[in-house]
Amino acid sequence: MYDTCSRCDYTTYAEIPAKGHTETVDPAVPAACTEAGLTEGKRCAVCGAVLEKQLVIPALGHDYREAGRTITRVSFRCKNCGDTRWEDNAYSRNLIPGLVRDKEGKNADYTAGVGYQGGKRVLNVQPDGLPDGVSLYLEPAQVKQWLREDVFAVIFGKGETKLQIILDEISDAWFPLEKGEKNAFYVFAAVPEAAVYAETKGGLIPAETFAGVTLLP
Ligand SMILES: [Zn+2]
Ligand SMILES: [Zn+2]
Repeated sequence: MYDTCSRCDYTTYAEIPAKGHTETVDPAVPAACTEAGLTEGKRCAVCGAVLEKQLVIPALGHDYREAGRTITRVSFRCKNCGDTRWEDNAYSRNLIPGLVRDKEGKNADYTAGVGYQGGKRVLNVQPDGLPDGVSLYLEPAQVKQWLREDVFAVIFGKGETKLQIILDEISDAWFPLEKGEKNAFYVFAAVPEAAVYAETKGGLIPAETFAGVTLLP
């Protein structure tokens, strides 16, 4: 309400200026690998009006870098959050020294790769040369590690002489490997002219003696 003089311009009218908003900041939230973020926004602390809307920043996604490889796995680690994942190592060369050896017991060249047979994870180990006289040397610790890495069997050899070794069939009872003994290996050889043998420190024992060791057709 206001008064006005009827004879002059006098008036008590005066605009009451709007009391401006009281700005408060909604802080920015940085986006993470799997969580979206927000830009900085502004809001009135008194009436709640949004003065500057916060915008969604999409999640960044992981930024994986290779963190290491074994003969069965290539592992990756996100450089931002440390999340890890792995993939099958489909191809490697001579990654484990001494895994494949020639007749003289010297390291022989080979390639290895993880594949699937009937849905089961297998490690294929192929010597470069002819499989005659070439052997696969498996340490018990290696067998245990591959079992942990979900390897069902090792398939050793190539062409018509492929030996399948089912890892969880390998048993300490096969032949005595003394604890802590150096050069304690399970040795597998696919000899073309005679079927298949598992070679031990004591000589050659036919592979059919052992459950889980078969010559693939
Ligand atoms: Zn306000
Ligand atoms: Zn990440």
